[in-house]
Amino acid sequence: MDQSYEFLSFVLDAITESIVVIDPLGEIKYVNRSWSQFGQSNSGTDTSITSNAQNACQTWIGMNYLDVCDNAAAMGDEFGSVAGKGIRGVISEGEDTFYFEYPCHSPNEKRWFTMRVTPLHLECLNYFVISHQDITDRKLAEEKVMSLAKMDGLINIPNRRAFDEFLADEWQRCTRLKKPISLAIIDIDHFKTLNDTYGHQKGDECLIALGTLFQTYVKRPSDLCARYGGEEFILVWGDTLMSHSLKLMNDLLQKIDSLKIPNSDDISNYLTVSIGLTEITPTTSMSEVDIIAQADRMLYEAKRTGRNKVVY
Ligand code: GH3
Ligand code: MG
Ligand code: MG
Repeated sequence: MDQSYEFLSFVLDAITESIVVIDPLGEIKYVNRSWSQFGQSNSGTDTSITSNAQNACQTWIGMNYLDVCDNAAAMGDEFGSVAGKGIRGVISEGEDTFYFEYPCHSPNEKRWFTMRVTPLHLECLNYFVISHQDITDRKLAEEKVMSLAKMDGLINIPNRRAFDEFLADEWQRCTRLKKPISLAIIDIDHFKTLNDTYGHQKGDECLIALGTLFQTYVKRPSDLCARYGGEEFILVWGDTLMSHSLKLMNDLLQKIDSLKIPNSDDISNYLTVSIGLTEITPTTSMSEVDIIAQADRMLYEAKRTGRNKVVY
């Protein structure tokens, strides 16, 4: 790299991506300024391969990048095995490029990087350029969008999409563990009357108040409460018998009764809800649709037989 070295280092030092150049055996021939600076600023703050490699930057030249990857892989670092395989793909199998995105979180902050490996032919010799780029801002924005897409905009609780994903996971977990799942669908009674009498704005406020209240009935990581539709909510409790969830729902009916939210209809002068409650211990021959359908049938019964009750 002698003759072209100065020019190459001039160009690569101006680049903000962290760059390392290796030979076909993985030996490091060059690192750019950004790589060195990253290594120094992260010294001692995390244990990932990137920063381990970059911490060693001061003694870089002559180190073997593939060995660093292999050692990290041997210690269970997924980046090490993916990176090692990818680099070898470009070196030995003639692949044009290798690219992947990986998390590299420190104890204090989340970070993500890309890794790109491309061949470099210089003075009749083959080298390989490995560049790392910080994509943390983009990933944080993506995470935010993903979490917003799973929240109900009005009530700020999980929406149906979030619920469906959660239930699918919990269903699988309880199938494996042969544990019961309790599930309740809550529908506000005569909510249209409330809207028609007091206006849509009051209706919204009521949905927010009730949704917030329903949330207090899910406590564990295996429980979730979501807005399932307009004035319908759904609650799931993993590894929970109906004897427990029924107590919760009876307590909820009493709480709503004590709130005395005005809504005059044929049942009461105050707002009420109907609840369909069910419990299933899932097996591989069932699906989560079964538990929702069952709770829905119970809800229908609650409506049919007078509302303001739990049917199970
Ligand atoms: P039922 O006891 O049979 O459940 O009667 P209901 O009036 O509650 O049911 P219906 O399906 O007839 O009406 C539901 C109402 O919920 C009508 C709809 O405008 C209202 N609704 C749905 N989403 C919202 C919302 O986001 N805000 C407000 N204010 N109202 C909503
Ligand atoms: Mg409804
Ligand atoms: Mg209703």
